[in-house]
Amino acid sequence: MSFGARALIRLDAIRDNFQTIKERSHGARMMAVIKANAYGHGLLPVARCLTGADCFAVARLGEAADLREAGIDTPIALPGGVFSETDLGKALDLELQLGVHTESQLAWLEQFGQANATIWLKIDTGMNRLGFRSHAAASLIDRLQNCAAVGDLRVMTHFANADDVEDDTTVSQIGQFRKIVDAFDGDISIANSAGILAWEKDLEVFAGHRSNGRFWVRPGLALYGISPFADRCGADLGLRPAMRFESQLIAIKALGKGETVGYGGAWRSGRDTLLGIVAAGYGDGYSRFIPAGSPVMVNDRRVKIAGLVSMDLTAVDLGPAATDQVGDPVLLWGDELPVEEVAKHAGTIPYQLVCGITNREESVYED
Ligand SMILES: *Cc1c(COP(=O)(O)O)cnc(C)c1O
Repeated sequence: MSFGARALIRLDAIRDNFQTIKERSHGARMMAVIKANAYGHGLLPVARCLTGADCFAVARLGEAADLREAGIDTPIALPGGVFSETDLGKALDLELQLGVHTESQLAWLEQFGQANATIWLKIDTGMNRLGFRSHAAASLIDRLQNCAAVGDLRVMTHFANADDVEDDTTVSQIGQFRKIVDAFDGDISIANSAGILAWEKDLEVFAGHRSNGRFWVRPGLALYGISPFADRCGADLGLRPAMRFESQLIAIKALGKGETVGYGGAWRSGRDTLLGIVAAGYGDGYSRFIPAGSPVMVNDRRVKIAGLVSMDLTAVDLGPAATDQVGDPVLLWGDELPVEEVAKHAGTIPYQLVCGITNREESVYED
């Protein structure tokens, strides 16, 4: 079959990764993070395949509404909460669990009247993005416990540097959070993928000895088989990459030594060679920031990008002796060419590459 760039998503890999992460989480409850179209893997297919998730987390009200509309009745959390008072009513109608991290969200909740909302009080222990400062935690807990709209109060925080095992910010964050939740009886949540995979030992303090509240982890990236650590890929962590971003060769041409390729003549060939044109470009989510020289797999061997990625096409240097044919398969990233490696070439993180696929050609799902 002929196609341009498209993602092949293996749902069994996502299920396996879920299980792997669960086994490393000390029996914690699993809040599976499926925001941003499940990191490009498809919101609904991923939600439907993760039948073991105790809760889903998304970042936008619309994502949660799509899940509900599709009949997903697993609990859904919006850790960032709602962005307006009107949205509070909508979110509670959808029975969403809501993060509360600002005075305005708190005020909307207090003005709401009677409800039975599950609220995640978000404490900033060092990320310095969303959340109330640690010192305010006790009084906020008290205030929320006395709020008529709150049925179940929970407390969460978010790691800033958990992907760096040398950085002691994580130790400090764990310490601060521990002080807050030691005196708290409800559910608590702390770790993202890097937290779960690199700080397993340190998280034990939360998992054990809690008589009156459950411990939740919030894996995102690792569910998709991708590593949050700069020096390792998913397979090194016992994970299975779920996405293969693939395309095919749609033209092959001879290129003379000294000739340039593509817009701006940005790349010049140092030899007589054969150039392959791949049906993939930034219009598909194959980023223009992936520079010349970055690897692409053609017929199971690595070749390099020649020139700039354009909207629909990318040229690769197949080499003078190439025997590749039009229609031959191209892997942009996937098992044999980890997205972590491509991201490094592009000066970005794998999160951005997988989130960025545009689905110009619909993704294909394999169970
Ligand atoms: C995105 C997000 C996560 C998941 O992070 P990963 O690094 O993808 O595991 C967890 N918690 C919060 C609050 C998030 O915003």
